[in-house]
Amino acid sequence: PDALFCHCRAGFEPELAAELTERAASLGHAGYARTERGSGFVEFICDEATQLARQLPFASLIFARQKLLRLAELRGFDPKDRIGPILAVLDTAVRRRDSEPFGDLWVEHPDSDDARPLSGLARSFGNALRPALRKAGWLTAREDARLPRLHVVFLAGDHLVLGRSHPGDSAPWPQGIARLRMHPQAPSRSALKLEEALLTLLDEDERSELLREGLTGADLGAAPGGWTWVMLHHGLHMTAVDNGPLRAHLFDDGRLEHLRADGFRWQPEGTLDWMVCDMVEQPRRVAERMASWLREGWCRQTIFNLKLPMKKRWDETRLCLDLFAKQVGGPVDIRARQLYHDREEITVFARRK
Ligand code: SAM
Repeated sequence: PDALFCHCRAGFEPELAAELTERAASLGHAGYARTERGSGFVEFICDEATQLARQLPFASLIFARQKLLRLAELRGFDPKDRIGPILAVLDTAVRRRDSEPFGDLWVEHPDSDDARPLSGLARSFGNALRPALRKAGWLTAREDARLPRLHVVFLAGDHLVLGRSHPGDSAPWPQGIARLRMHPQAPSRSALKLEEALLTLLDEDERSELLREGLTGADLGAAPGGWTWVMLHHGLHMTAVDNGPLRAHLFDDGRLEHLRADGFRWQPEGTLDWMVCDMVEQPRRVAERMASWLREGWCRQTIFNLKLPMKKRWDETRLCLDLFAKQVGGPVDIRARQLYHDREEITVFARRK
């Protein structure tokens, strides 16, 4: 393998390219990002791609929705036989180490306007390729999450990338997209953002430990109440801070208090388990205020958004996260990601170590 292949939000290729380039360089890898604006993916070409993939855990990447090791790129083949060239390239270019088959097959396309029409092809081709791979011994009879996954990414009808990911070091969804359904009781679509953040930035043990009845939290910039609703749904007692109104049904079980106050000034008495924040403000200002909460011990952990409406979004991201870490002071666990439900923003989870 000579490249990483990462899915991202269309339009954020320069951010992902900058992130990969900077991080690869700091790990001592020479290489370069190949990308096209609006394409929904970035390839990072380098000699030691396997090693680089190991040194850049998926969980540490901010602008990548998915991380694959590129095994091969096929183009210009006869659209009547796409299976033959794939099997051939697997046999020659990939070979079987210890005859280990893949544990799953995902046929995808980038999440871009140009590639979206390929979704029908991806679906039907997956159904055709799966039995052929099984017959050739490349794919286990049943899904096996302990084994690497094979990805076929269509870039056009006659152009595809073969990639490999490890279930423990990748997004658990095709294209890295968490397709969550909006709950009919949720006051706003923003609820999906927090739900995705909890699914993506926390592991299962953390979710059951940190989201349970009896815990407390504050939501800064809460109206109309999507994020508050998510936390109430997990059984927390919440304080929602916003001058705007909250949906009435949120108050039904008596675990919500609404304060009409400035989210940049209000602070709790004592320590809350959580503070979440979705205020639309300059990201540096948000980062600084969020840092105060951890530094002063007003909350144990936090999830907040950093809005990135500016041009140099990677630079701003780096700057804000550095500023945040510096202002927290002590050792801090920071996990950041541009979620599927994030548009021009990223979502950050943080707690003191
Ligand atoms: N997370 C919410 C949800 O899920 O429904 C949506 C929040 S909306 C994007 C941003 C909110 O932040 C607005 O309701 C706005 O009133 C509030 N806001 C902005 N600046 C604020 C401030 N300084 N203090 C309190 N609330 C603020």
